[in-house]
Amino acid sequence: SIKVVEDDPKDLVPRAPIVTVMGHVDHGKTSLLDYIRKENVIAGESGGITQHIGAYGVQLDNGQKMAFLDTPGHEAFTAMRARGAQVTDIAIIVVAADDAIMPQTKEAIAHAQAAGVPIVFAINKIDKPTANPEKVKEQLAQMNLLVEDWGGKIQSHDISAKVGTGVKELLEKVLLEAELLELKANPNKDASGTVVEAYLDKGRGYVSTILVQAGTLKVGDYVLAGKNSGKVKAMQDERGHDVESAGPSTPVSILGLDGAPQAGDKFNVFEDEREAKLIATKRTQLQREQSVRTQRH
Ligand code: GDP
Repeated sequence: SIKVVEDDPKDLVPRAPIVTVMGHVDHGKTSLLDYIRKENVIAGESGGITQHIGAYGVQLDNGQKMAFLDTPGHEAFTAMRARGAQVTDIAIIVVAADDAIMPQTKEAIAHAQAAGVPIVFAINKIDKPTANPEKVKEQLAQMNLLVEDWGGKIQSHDISAKVGTGVKELLEKVLLEAELLELKANPNKDASGTVVEAYLDKGRGYVSTILVQAGTLKVGDYVLAGKNSGKVKAMQDERGHDVESAGPSTPVSILGLDGAPQAGDKFNVFEDEREAKLIATKRTQLQREQSVRTQRH
């Protein structure tokens, strides 16, 4: 069984927000995530992040950190939610200023609201001559979503994901929103969190990108993730650098699992390797039985 122990408030320390980018197709989600990934330069590091591992951490000039789920589109968000995963603290919803509020924009808003996740709007493509950000804000107002410029409380910022205009200010607004949430976690316990993506790498075996949400994951820990388990042989950050440990709100890719868990699967660290393997086996059996049942019907 997986123990759920309530944290003592005195053990909780502030953690970085975890951010998801959603919005209508072609409104610029990928461009925004790419821009943030490539432009972010952490002190002492040269160049941006070149790897694509499903999630990455960035640090602003003022030292504040945030983690991004690099899986644009609300399919990933809803798939994770369907598996019971609550990963996102804040949603950036991208709306192209040369277009309008579209069906998938509305869906993204509905998903964020249903999950109780605050929204920050990124009104994108303002470099285009045909851009009309005020029209987008007016449409939002008609949906009872009043952004700050329009006297409301919802944060929004005009950006160009292509050129980079306003992106820094957008992230500052996301951090402002995050401060209101007073996000905290206990780093001094066995790690738990959620799988973001996993795949089989020819040379390295199964590589799973996970997001640590509580506790600290260390090399050598025994992990159960969905139906898979294994001892963490190595961990890497978004720059491909080996790390020995990862605390709350940190995305890392881990090596050592015996298969590829699914996006949205929870992971836990087990002191007892046999117990973890037993649960993994039971979960596999249960799933086999369920699929047999659905085939019969
Ligand atoms: P996604 O489907 O929401 O991920 O959208 P993409 O990021 O793939 O962008 C769709 C298209 O819009 C691509 O051709 C981008 O180059 C373009 N695009 C994205 N952001 C901007 C922007 O800020 N300005 C301009 N001019 N084009 C952009």
